[in-house]
Amino acid sequence: MPVLSEGMFHPPMAVYLDCAATGPVDPRVQREVITYLGVEFGNAGSRHHGFGSRARSAVERARVQVAAVVSATRGEIIFTSGATESNNLALLGLAEHGARTGRFHLVSSRIEHKSVLEPLQALSGRGFEVTLVAPEPGGWVHPRAIRDALRDNTLLVSVMQVNNETGVIQPIREIARLLENHPAYLHVDAAQGFGKEIASLRNRRIDLISISGHKIYAPKGIGALVTRRRNGQRPPLTPLMHGGGQELGLRPGTLPVPLIAGLGKASELALAEHQERNTVCRRFKEILLRKLRTLKPVFNGDLDRTVPQIVNLSLPGISSEEAIEAVSQVAAISNGSACTSTSDSCSHVLSAQKLDEARMEGALRLSWCHLSRQPDWNAFIQAVEGIGEPALPESSTAVGIGQAGAA
Ligand code: PMP
Repeated sequence: MPVLSEGMFHPPMAVYLDCAATGPVDPRVQREVITYLGVEFGNAGSRHHGFGSRARSAVERARVQVAAVVSATRGEIIFTSGATESNNLALLGLAEHGARTGRFHLVSSRIEHKSVLEPLQALSGRGFEVTLVAPEPGGWVHPRAIRDALRDNTLLVSVMQVNNETGVIQPIREIARLLENHPAYLHVDAAQGFGKEIASLRNRRIDLISISGHKIYAPKGIGALVTRRRNGQRPPLTPLMHGGGQELGLRPGTLPVPLIAGLGKASELALAEHQERNTVCRRFKEILLRKLRTLKPVFNGDLDRTVPQIVNLSLPGISSEEAIEAVSQVAAISNGSACTSTSDSCSHVLSAQKLDEARMEGALRLSWCHLSRQPDWNAFIQAVEGIGEPALPESSTAVGIGQAGAA
């Protein structure tokens, strides 16, 4: 069976620069997945034969591999379908405990992913009170704002590790520290940082961590929720589904062994290689910033606080739609979710940062990984500078962008 190689990851024309949306599956992970799709197809819940026990071993190995990245124990890992489900399980799953103990207050931020904001909204319709703190203009949540929002009856604080639109790293360590003497559970949506920004997730004050496989070169449809014990007690979650009792009853259903084995392998590789990968990504970023200087970009988010693999920028006078279309033969990039009165894709993140309308309309997100090659930046710049100029005849357009892109 063919395994996707690095070469196939880059079709001849556009270089893929949307790794914050999703990334390629590492060929080593693909091989692991294929093993458990093929010969080792057993059900990890089958106790009476080797097919079942070999599948069970793969799942338990993956649990150890995922746990090692965040210094957790394997019993603290619950496999889910991805970070969306993990966020839902963490937030909605604590509600019953909150109601039972009279803790009806939740603290989070305005820049969280929708898979955090929407469960919070659902909880506010169920009698909980939610405080969403505003970020600083640089796109980070000030720990002081979290501290000021805390109440005696705060059940949970939920703050993401790395923002998916701006790449800004959130001060998780400081937030964990200020909760040292507060009983609130701390949940971190680590979809963008797990396996990349290692140290902050190892903090034992973080009770719940959401993980997504497809951001670390594993397949889509697999993730995990870390449920760390504090003083010997696991966070008192109530399951969202009921069934066969798998995953301590918190996430019932036949385990997707190929995907779990893939997530395990991807986690092991991330832990072993994250420093090297970060160095490659940092170098990519330096080149990108140097090359794009001539376009006079304005950065949306404090550059000093961003991860090495995501940049969000606006180009003066150019809308994100125009720019994405213009460079589409050179690089596949995404918008930073432009916010206009006519658009339904308004970025709640950038508007929370109080950026002006023009800047939000022009926001572009470029995101890469250690496998990305540099696009032809000259062709990229030429394409952006050509916006608004009269279209050239068909043949010359193909030469202008097509050849440059393939160079
Ligand atoms: N949280 C963040 C910060 C994300 O970037 C994403 C994916 N875009 C998610 C949650 C959802 O992850 P998944 O695709 O695994 O459901």
